[in-house]
Amino acid sequence: MSNATLRPRFWETVSITRMTRAEWEALCDGCGKCCLNKLEDEDTGEVALTRVACRLLDDATCRCGQYETRHQFVPECIVLDAKNMDKNLYWMPETCAYKLLWTGQQLKAWHPLISGDPDSVHKAGASVQGITVPEFEISEDDWEDYIIEEPT
Ligand code: SF4
Ligand code: SF4
Repeated sequence: MSNATLRPRFWETVSITRMTRAEWEALCDGCGKCCLNKLEDEDTGEVALTRVACRLLDDATCRCGQYETRHQFVPECIVLDAKNMDKNLYWMPETCAYKLLWTGQQLKAWHPLISGDPDSVHKAGASVQGITVPEFEISEDDWEDYIIEEPT
């Protein structure tokens, strides 16, 4: 994607509801945390993060291996947009750039848009790089053993 399509510091000047598709996509920090499976407590509604990753997540890059065609393989993958942010906030990672802006916070210093370095999210230890296990290797009954604190 060309940065020419992004307005200067759009994350500070443009409401998340008015971003272009290119700006919306560029807002993703590449942490990969939303692609980890979660466990939700039916009684309390509490969500626990596991390091069991979606089958399409690339553990090295923390990116989806088939982003454009992912719904052919993972139909349940959620497409976030400004209209469904409110109902998804409860499970989203605390440092997710969409969640930060939606809740009136600023992007982290390690966000690639701020640092200018796509790897800064990994260098800061805020991504899932190198810590995941693929979901096809772990029975869902055992996911509880893989619960982690969110890397931040
Ligand atoms: S948690 Fe948010 S910022 Fe991180 S990869 Fe997912 S959508 Fe992008
Ligand atoms: S399909 Fe891709 S974007 Fe969706 S959860 Fe899996 S790895 Fe992430």
